[in-house]
Amino acid sequence: MRKIAILGSTGSIGTQTLEVAEANRDLEVVGLTAGSNVKRLEEQIRKFHPRLAAVMDEQAAKDLAVRVQDTQTKVVSGMEGIIQVATMDEMEILVTAVVGMIGIRPTMEAICAGKDIALANKETLVTAGHLIMPLAKENHVHILPVDSEHSAVFQCLNGENAREIEKLIITASGGPFRGRKQEALSQVTLEDTLKHPNWVMGQKITVDSATLVNKGLEVMEARWLFDVDLDHIQVVVQPQSVIHSMVEFKDGAVMAQLGTPDMKLPIQYALYYPERRFLAGDRLDFARLASISFEEPDVETFLGLPMAIQSARAGGTMPTVFNAANERAVAKFLRREIRFLDIYEIIGQSIKQHKVIENPDLDTILAVEEETYQWIESRW
Ligand code: NDP
Ligand code: MG
Repeated sequence: MRKIAILGSTGSIGTQTLEVAEANRDLEVVGLTAGSNVKRLEEQIRKFHPRLAAVMDEQAAKDLAVRVQDTQTKVVSGMEGIIQVATMDEMEILVTAVVGMIGIRPTMEAICAGKDIALANKETLVTAGHLIMPLAKENHVHILPVDSEHSAVFQCLNGENAREIEKLIITASGGPFRGRKQEALSQVTLEDTLKHPNWVMGQKITVDSATLVNKGLEVMEARWLFDVDLDHIQVVVQPQSVIHSMVEFKDGAVMAQLGTPDMKLPIQYALYYPERRFLAGDRLDFARLASISFEEPDVETFLGLPMAIQSARAGGTMPTVFNAANERAVAKFLRREIRFLDIYEIIGQSIKQHKVIENPDLDTILAVEEETYQWIESRW
């Protein structure tokens, strides 16, 4: 039995990870966490019988403890509780499927406890990659990518020499507003934004896909995961989401990973790496696949991508400011407090006012996150 725990088990990646666990009899789920959705967490506890469950919200944790008092599962709460799950003795792989940079501390604690990480939570690497990657090396821990693009790159690199990489080619669907210009984007609604053409995901990443912030975060994530500098990472729009990403090598050979859009594949690959298991679901049918097309990303319109690259190049605390500003702006957009294009405005202004602190430690990152939130709240 491979023992796993999931941070953010009630979300999109979390529930799909549990589907993978259900389909494979040799994965044992020993720990689960959620923000506040105790109804779904209770269902998961009754089905998977974890030893420990953590809820961030204290009141919700009390509610859960009452709901599951007839089970063997112990309920803990707050960041401390989440870290308890992230460092459970018997657990071998931690799936980080929580959304946002709230994942930094539990991820770092898990690495220090020697746990392999199946990483979906990209915001953690974006803001603290310079701390996490060396920490993982030091503790002989594997960071296994779950994000589909990074899983694709990881699969393309299987058996290859990383020193022979010429560039990473990260594909993007272009999101629901591909082809539109700024003028049209000023009119879009929350409902339009939440209609992703190819993937069903949590709300935050769905908005990030529409702004292309997600692709920017993914470039930063790729940089840390594969130790490739920004000049050797290219983004290309591949609207059908059939090619999940590619690697070009020194000799000009390009390796690509293709498949139907299904996050269970990268999740399962991370959990069983280097083994491949059967996965139920649709297969690509090349006889029926009309075309696979490519476009350049429209960086004049979708400012999420160029602003992310600009932050990555500035380095230090700037990716934290970029990410925190986006997290706060997206939360406001989801509450209908701002319009779509205001997301770019908030990120752009936040970046502009920030003075970079080089090589920040964890406390500095968390302090800059808080400062960014306060700066935004005082203006929007
Ligand atoms: P969801 O919004 O669907 O789920 C987020 C999970 O995190 C939920 O379990 C939620 O709990 C929990 N959570 C939210 N806020 C907090 C908090 N403050 N403290 C503790 N737990 C919290 O997100 P996704 O599954 O879509 O995404 C998760 C991560 O994976 C993100 O970083 C995303 O970028 C990445 N990712 C997602 C993909 C996808 O297909 N969905 C693809 C590639 C990457 P509750 O339900 O109680 O709110
Ligand atoms: Mg992705």
